Amino acid sequence: MNDEDVGGSDFTRMAILDLLGRDGPASRATIARDLDLSPATVSQVTRRLIHQGVVEPLYFAPSEGGRPGQLLGLVADAGHAVGVKLAADHLILVDVRLDGHVLDTTTENFDALAADAIPRLLASLGAFVGTNATRLLGVGVCVPGVVEHPDVGDVDAEVLGWSRMPLGRELRQAIGVPVLIENDVKALAVAERLYGRGRSRRSFVVVTVGRGVGFACVNNGVLERGSHGGAGEVGHVVVSNNGPQCACGQRGCLEAYIGSDGLVAAAREAGLLKAGQGLDRLTGLADRGDPGARQVFARAGQRLAYGIAPVIAALDPEVLLVAGEGTASWPHWDTAFRSSLTRRLPGWMRGTPVEVDPWDESSWARGAAAIVLATPFDRNGLAGQQRLQVLARLHGD
Ligand SMILES: [Zn+2]
Repeated sequence: MNDEDVGGSDFTRMAILDLLGRDGPASRATIARDLDLSPATVSQVTRRLIHQGVVEPLYFAPSEGGRPGQLLGLVADAGHAVGVKLAADHLILVDVRLDGHVLDTTTENFDALAADAIPRLLASLGAFVGTNATRLLGVGVCVPGVVEHPDVGDVDAEVLGWSRMPLGRELRQAIGVPVLIENDVKALAVAERLYGRGRSRRSFVVVTVGRGVGFACVNNGVLERGSHGGAGEVGHVVVSNNGPQCACGQRGCLEAYIGSDGLVAAAREAGLLKAGQGLDRLTGLADRGDPGARQVFARAGQRLAYGIAPVIAALDPEVLLVAGEGTASWPHWDTAFRSSLTRRLPGWMRGTPVEVDPWDESSWARGAAAIVLATPFDRNGLAGQQRLQVLARLHGD
C-alpha cells in the first residue's frame, strides 16, 4: 500500500479495520508490516480510530525480542446491525454487535404472499429497531432467493412468490438506514467468514440442507456472487430430465429430490409416511432404526455428494461446512454423503474435511446482520453504494 493514501485516509482506515475485523487484534507493528505502511502512518490513523471510539488499545502481547507490543482491537459496541431472516411464513429478527454477540432476537409470523407483506415487514422491523437505533450501522435482510446487487436489493424468489421485488428500496425509504439484501446461504457464509469456522480459513464452502439445497463459496476471503448474484445455485442444477417438479418451475433439480418436500414425497412413495405426516416423522423413524427411512436419507446423502462433487473439485476449498435446519437428520445422510463424495473427487482432494455446524434457527438472521457488519471490513465493494453510509455511521460522521 502507498502511504500517499493517507491524505484522504479512508482507504487506509478501511484497510486497518479490515485487518482487525478479519484477523482479530493486532499490534501497530503487525498492522504496518501486513499493510505495508510506515509506523508513523499507522500511529496517526489508529490514533484517529481510537479517538472515534472504533478501535481500542488492548493487552500487551509478548513479541520476539524487544518490548512487548500493545494490541489494538475493534470496540465491540462501536456498532450493531439488525438482521432479518425472511421466510415464506415467518420472520426471525436479531440484533448483533460488531463482534458477533447477539443482543436480542425474536420470531414473528409473516405471509410473503399477502398483499401487505412489505408494510407488515416494516412494522415488525420498526418495532424491533425501536429505541435501540444508537450506533445502528444498518439492516441486513436475507431471503431464500436470488439478489443481483445487495445494495439495490431487488429480490427474485419463487418460494416467496416474488419477482423483482424492490425490497431494498422500500426498506431504505421507510427506515432511513443503510439496507443490504442477500441470498440466505451467501449471508450465512459471510457470518462464517466473520465469526465462525471460516475465520481462520481463506477458502471454504457452505452447503445447506433443509427446505432447499443451498451452496455458497468464499474464495481467498471473498464471497463468490457470480455475475448475477446466482453463484452457488447448485440446488437447481437438473440432475434428471424427467425428475420431480421443483418449486423453481423446472423438473428434476437436485433440490426437487433432496429438499424436504422431495424427501417426504420419496418416503410416501415407499409407504413410510401417510398423508399429513412430514419430515419430523421420517427423521423419527430413521432415529429409531427404520431401514426404509434410513435408506431415504442415505440416498439423499449420495445425491447431494454426486451433485456437488464437480463444484468442490472446481473450487478446491479448505473445508466444507454443512448447515441448515435439515442437519437435524444429518447423522442419517453422513456416511453415504462422505463415501460418495470421496468416490467422486480426484484422489488428492479426498481428504477435504466435512464439518457439520450445530444448527440454530437464528443462524440465518445472524448471517443477515453479518452482511452489514462485514461492510466496514470489506475492500471488495460487495456492499456497493451502501458501504460508505455504513462506514460513516461507524465513524460517527
Ligand atoms: Zn429447481
